Amino acid sequence: MNDLVNLSENQSSSEPVNGRFYIKTFGCQMNVADSERMASLLAEQGLEPTEEAKDADVVIINGCTVREKAVHKALSTLGQLREIKNRKKKSPPIIGIGGCVGQLDKATLFKKAPGLDFVFGTDTIDNLPEIIHRVKNGEKHVVYADFDTSMDYSTETKVFGHKAQAFVNIMKGCDKYCTYCIVPYTRGKEKSRTIDEVVDDIARLVATGVREVTLLGQNVNSFGKGNSNQKNRQPMELHNVIGKVGPRAGEENFPQLLRAIDSDPRCEALRRIRFTSSHPLDFSDELIECYAPASQGGVSRLSPYLHLPVQSGSNQVLQKMGRHHKIEGYFAQMDRLREICPDVGLSTDLIVGFPTETEEDFQETLRLLDRVQFDNIYAFAYSPRPGTRAAKLPDDVSAKVKNERLNHLLKYQLEIAEKLYKTRVGKVMEILVEGEAKNQKMASTSSIVGRVWTGKTPCHRVVNFISDSPRSLVGQFVQVKITEATGLSLQGELITGDLQ
Ligand code: SF4
Repeated sequence: MNDLVNLSENQSSSEPVNGRFYIKTFGCQMNVADSERMASLLAEQGLEPTEEAKDADVVIINGCTVREKAVHKALSTLGQLREIKNRKKKSPPIIGIGGCVGQLDKATLFKKAPGLDFVFGTDTIDNLPEIIHRVKNGEKHVVYADFDTSMDYSTETKVFGHKAQAFVNIMKGCDKYCTYCIVPYTRGKEKSRTIDEVVDDIARLVATGVREVTLLGQNVNSFGKGNSNQKNRQPMELHNVIGKVGPRAGEENFPQLLRAIDSDPRCEALRRIRFTSSHPLDFSDELIECYAPASQGGVSRLSPYLHLPVQSGSNQVLQKMGRHHKIEGYFAQMDRLREICPDVGLSTDLIVGFPTETEEDFQETLRLLDRVQFDNIYAFAYSPRPGTRAAKLPDDVSAKVKNERLNHLLKYQLEIAEKLYKTRVGKVMEILVEGEAKNQKMASTSSIVGRVWTGKTPCHRVVNFISDSPRSLVGQFVQVKITEATGLSLQGELITGDLQ
C-alpha cells in the first residue's frame, strides 16, 4: 500500500511552491518523457528549473534498472546529493528518486541512500506535487510506488516549454518477459490508450507548435491489445512472417493508430511521426506497409526509420533470451521493409556475453551486422538483473571476454556505418534542428563565422552544420547539403530552411 494519505484541507498540492528543481534522468526515452512530465508538473506548482543540482531546492533522480551499471549510477548520484545536502544545512534540498529504480526498490532505497526523502514509481508521477508538499510539511521517508493495476490507460501529454518535438506515451508495460529483462516487473502489464485519445492529444500538441512526435511504449507494436475497436473502424487482422502477432482482429492496433494520426485534418502541420520501441514478434506486415510511399498507400508522415531490437544474431542465444523468434524471421522482416522503403534508416539493440554465448554465437551477431547494415546499434555487455529468469543461469562469459566482444562489435559497426554514411555525401537532406552541437570544433575550420547546430534527418541520422544566424534555430526544419561523413554523424552546409 502507498503510505501517502490524502492531503488535509490546508495542505493542498496546488498551493504554489517557491524554489528551483533539478531532474537527472537515466535510461530510455520512456524515462526522458517521464522526466519532461515531472518538470511540467513541478513548473505548474511554481518551481523553476535549474541547470545544476547544487542550486536546486528539489532534486529528483529518474533512475533506470535495465542494467546494473545504470542502477549504480543512480545510487552514486544520490551519494553526491547527500554531500550537497550536508553542505546546505540551513536550507537543505528535498531529494527523491523515481523511475524503474523507485518502482522496484521502494523503501529499501532509504537504507542504501541516507539523505533520500521520497521514492515514487512509474505509475505515480502525477502524485509528485502531493509528495513534495508532504515532505515540505515534515513527513519523512515518503513512498508512493504502487502499480496502477486497472487495465485502462488514459493520460494527456505534458511538454515542458515550447517545443517542436514531443514524446507521446501510447502504451505502457510489457507482456513479453524476455529472460534477461526487468522491465515487465518495473512497468507492469501492457495497456494502451485509445486511438481517439492519442489523436486528440497529438492534435492539441500540433496546435501548440509540435511538428514531430515520437510514439512511446515498451512495445508499441502491440498497441491496442485489449481495446475493442470503435464502431467506425473495421476489424483488422495483423500478419507477420514470424507467425504470432499483436492485438486480435476486433481490437485497435498500431497501424490503425498511425493512419488515424496521418489522416486527421487537425494534424495537417505535423511533419514527422516516429515510434519506439518494438519487438519483432509484433512487427506486422501491415506496419511494414505503412512505410510505403503515400501514393502507394503508406502513412505520409511516418519517418523512414525503424529501431527494432534483435539482441543477438544467434538462434541458440535468442532462444535462451526467450525472444520467441529465429534470426531468419528478423531478416525476412528487414528485407521486406527495405523492399518497400529502400532509404529506411535502421537501428537495433544488442547484448553480448549472454550466458552460454560462444565465440561462434558472437560471430553470428557480426554476420547479422553485415547482413542488415544498421545505421546505428545500441550494444551492451550482459549483466544479470536480480529477479529475472536469466539471472538463474550461470553468468559464464568472463567480464574480459564480454568487454572484448563489445569493443569488437562497436568497432565493426562503426566501419559499416561509415561506409553507409559516406553514400549520403552530396545529397540534400531535411533536418529538424535540435540544438547547438556540444562540440563546436567544426566552426574553427569553416569559412562561415557562426555556431554549429545539430539535428536529425527523417531517417534519424545526426547532421551537424554551421549557421551565422544570430537567432536560435531549434525546432526549425532546414535543408542541408551533406559534405562529410563519419561512422557517427554527417556534416553539411546549410542551404535553406524555415529560417524566420
Ligand atoms: S520486449 Fe523489451 S521491454 Fe519487453 S521484456 Fe523483452 S526486452 Fe524487456
